[in-house]
Amino acid sequence: MTDLTKLSLAATRDGLKNKDFTALEVTEGYLDAIAAANPKLNAYVAVTGDEARAMAKASDEKLARGEGGALEGVPLGIKDLFATKGVHTQAASHILDQFKPEYESSVTQNLWNDGAVMLGKLNMDEFAMGSSNETSYYGPVINPWRGEGDNKDLVPGGSSGGSAAAVSAWLCAGATATDTGGSIRQPAAFTGTVGIKPTYGRCSRWGVVAFASSLDQAGPIARTVEDSAIMLTSMAGFDAKDSTSVDMAVPDFAAAVERGVKGLVIGVPKEYRMDGMPAEIEKLWQEGLEWLKAEGATVRDISLPHTKYALPAYYIVAPAEASSNLARYDGVKYGLRVPGKDITDMYEQTRAEGFGREVKRRIMIGTYVLSAGYYDAYYVRAQKVRTLIKRDFENAFADGVDAILTPATPSAAFGIADQEMASDPVKMYLNDIFTVTVNMAGLPGIAVPAGKDGQGLPLGLQLIGKPFDEETLFAAARVIERAAGMDFTPEKWW
Ligand code: GLN
Repeated sequence: MTDLTKLSLAATRDGLKNKDFTALEVTEGYLDAIAAANPKLNAYVAVTGDEARAMAKASDEKLARGEGGALEGVPLGIKDLFATKGVHTQAASHILDQFKPEYESSVTQNLWNDGAVMLGKLNMDEFAMGSSNETSYYGPVINPWRGEGDNKDLVPGGSSGGSAAAVSAWLCAGATATDTGGSIRQPAAFTGTVGIKPTYGRCSRWGVVAFASSLDQAGPIARTVEDSAIMLTSMAGFDAKDSTSVDMAVPDFAAAVERGVKGLVIGVPKEYRMDGMPAEIEKLWQEGLEWLKAEGATVRDISLPHTKYALPAYYIVAPAEASSNLARYDGVKYGLRVPGKDITDMYEQTRAEGFGREVKRRIMIGTYVLSAGYYDAYYVRAQKVRTLIKRDFENAFADGVDAILTPATPSAAFGIADQEMASDPVKMYLNDIFTVTVNMAGLPGIAVPAGKDGQGLPLGLQLIGKPFDEETLFAAARVIERAAGMDFTPEKWW
């Protein structure tokens, strides 16, 4: 019998509908795979076996009656940032110890309404702050990929490192993730998976633990472009509970996947050609452009002149919002409480013990840039820069560009506890150089695996689209996926 955990999400859905196998069988298959892999990969922080079996049985009953939603019986992993009723939700932080919400996030509720099955909660950087999944209270996630002939552990990227590793290692049919500055796209690129950050407002943020509210967006990480389109169709939608969610019909994204790129104009921003970028990535970028041209797209050089300010501006705006959002964790309302001699001391002890180093760094930066004396010099300026970045993209789209192609990351996956990154947080922040611009402008961006480096590690390309035009991104990403024609399954060593 075929291994039911080695099917695409689309094939799983179809097989369930055809009654080739049951949801319980697929679910048991994934639970076994997780039990075997998790001690090595650390992708899941909580496995909800009982809930998964109950959901799968309910799906099987519906499927037997010829009923069921778009994802009926399909087992998914959920990033620990999404509130799941009665189930571990800690944003991979110590400060949320034992927190089990009384409510369900809108995105996960949408998935359950469509019949999906929850396998458990996925590891991530603490409060989604990081690019390597090393800031998690639960320890790092290990990338299922290793360099050829090398047994060194690599990072899966972050902050959605658990989501990316679980999809890549066949520990779920697809996963939810979130992206504030690259946290869907960078881990997707590091693990040979597909990740899309939709347009800001496409998915509800209600019940997603807030990091930087004006940048946070949920999206899927999946194995193929089609799978990510199927998942996003279920995740997205207007939600009255999130005032920034947009009241717009959600297209059937999967229907756009095979639409092709004929007649599209693909922009190539010269500012994304960075000094010191590995030749392999430059080459991959060129290849991607050739593939799109071969399918009838036109390629055009464009300029996004404010690109170089995006990263510094992001590292003002994101920490500023984070410092405000994280003020609620004070030992009173949620999770951890460390007793003190009075209430102020209790707040201080709790926050000192409950937050990790990177989260504390962000809170301090954010508090500083928002403080009375520095607000205009930092925060207000960064907001102005943000407008200029957005305008760069608007100008390109107004000139007839349909989508923009860039590398997804400036390198392939790097080692766990990389000395350079550990000693200088700015080096770690540079991972997001190609992805943060998209969050600052609120645009959709997709990372698609497109090639491998000299060590056989996956490399991704990014496509950036017009607001609410995820369909073009799926279509163009599919062209790249097909042209690359590679198997992005890591060799199993765990
Ligand atoms: N790596 C970026 C950061 O640390 C982005 C994180 C994210 O997108 N959640 O802030």
